[in-house]
Amino acid sequence: MKNTDYLQRSLHSVWHPCSQMKQFETLPLVPVARGEGMWLYDFEGGRYLDAISSWWVNLFGHCNPRINAALKDQLDKLEHVILAGFTHEPVIRLSERLSALTGLGHCFYGSDGASATEIALKMSFHYWRNSGQPEKTRFISLQNSYHGETIGALSVTDVALFRDTYAPLLRQSTQVPTPDWRHAEAGESPHAFAERCAAHLRTHLEQHHAETAAFIVEPLVQGAAGMGMYDAEYLRQARAICDEFKVHLIADEIAVGFGRTGTMFAFEQANVHSSADTHAETAPPSRTRRSAPAESGGSVSCRTGTMFAFEQANVHSSADTHAEAASPSRTRRSAPVESGDSASCRPDTLLASEQAGIRPDFMCLSKGISGGYLPLSAVLTTDEVFQAFYHDETAKGFLHSHSYTGNALACRAALATLDIFEQDGVIEANRAKAAYLTQAAQPLRDHPRVKNFRHTGMIWAFEAESSTPHFSRVFYQQALQHELLLRPMGNTVYFMPPYIISHEEIDFLVAGTLKVLEQLC
Ligand SMILES: *Cc1c(COP(=O)(O)O)cnc(C)c1O
Repeated sequence: MKNTDYLQRSLHSVWHPCSQMKQFETLPLVPVARGEGMWLYDFEGGRYLDAISSWWVNLFGHCNPRINAALKDQLDKLEHVILAGFTHEPVIRLSERLSALTGLGHCFYGSDGASATEIALKMSFHYWRNSGQPEKTRFISLQNSYHGETIGALSVTDVALFRDTYAPLLRQSTQVPTPDWRHAEAGESPHAFAERCAAHLRTHLEQHHAETAAFIVEPLVQGAAGMGMYDAEYLRQARAICDEFKVHLIADEIAVGFGRTGTMFAFEQANVHSSADTHAETAPPSRTRRSAPAESGGSVSCRTGTMFAFEQANVHSSADTHAEAASPSRTRRSAPVESGDSASCRPDTLLASEQAGIRPDFMCLSKGISGGYLPLSAVLTTDEVFQAFYHDETAKGFLHSHSYTGNALACRAALATLDIFEQDGVIEANRAKAAYLTQAAQPLRDHPRVKNFRHTGMIWAFEAESSTPHFSRVFYQQALQHELLLRPMGNTVYFMPPYIISHEEIDFLVAGTLKVLEQLC
């Protein structure tokens, strides 16, 4: 098979995401035959360095042998099981480890980032309702925020291109000024700008705290805003302000979690007062945590008997439709017995983030959580939030679910990913790697048409001054010619590579990016 065979078939059968399909008349799709490490290979020997981690998800390369091995092992044990009333080892171990890493717990699972946002928003709202403050129903987010594209998540997303069309469907939310330092006054430091923006947050909450449930933020880096970066001081102050006005703080670490910003979770950096100390790690304190079993609601399964239910709209005689209904199995409704007995074991030790006391009320995780292998998301929260749902009354529980909640294969991929972090000292190793890339990128930083060159952890970005129309599309195509997968957002070019990138590959990335810049005017 050749690349072109796949192109036509894909364009006829697949509705590609985040795309104007008509653009593929002139912008060819890239069919990928296989991936290995940093590289994606097409069907004709072409290769591309995946410098954006396949949309910010891949951490340790494509077809990573260790994650592959874990998944192969898991495949022969358990692929998936209902998580209401049942549990399994990968989900328990993952929940324990995420709890130890974040200082939060009661891991609630979804399938993708947007569902994690939905879960956090619903939990916050429901917490206030269960706690006798049902008037707290509103959400605030930062200007240019991105929290996903389902209707609830889009309601707190402030990207006009994604949001404006659907505005009539969305619940009103408020955006407060972003501390993204590209918007600072000339001469104003990122720290001073963060303080000024925090003052706006305070003013807003002084007036609106009574009806505000939560403030949702992307800690340190606003990804979809074009890698807008800001000072950790903003998170420190936001935490204090939210505490003062009794508003939840939701950390959307979907993009920045799992080492992207230089610490395991971006929010940890709010604990460190001197930026020189950003990476200091303290020995974890010992603490015993309280835990309680979760309550689960009933579920009913009712399958339809055709491959897809809608096929039955094709059957004209309803007598025919039910001709086979004699078989009782077809219409059977089964209500599984629900047990509330999910004993949970909590680790005794927690990380520095909790010791220092600055942590969000909710943390949303996805993207890198499974190493970029399988769709998985999680929301962790505090004991206090959890306890507000723990009740004799069913409706006070969190009656939310997705079919693939806590999928065993996805959890196992996540465990293998955490193993790599531990065994390879990844956070530490990334510091040296990041220093190398920043150094290697000096010619980019010095380039006359490069503005706002910036870097946080394993993310680099800059704005390219260019008069080329459709800059991002043209840049993307030119980059492919240089064997690079780069996908600028507007005029913002960014690198967000898998952590396994080698020095040679870094040099290749920088050299190719410079060549593309030279080709565009
Ligand atoms: C990608 C992203 C989401 C949405 O995740 P999906 O898996 O694409 O639904 C939410 N928040 C942030 C910060 C993201 O970067």
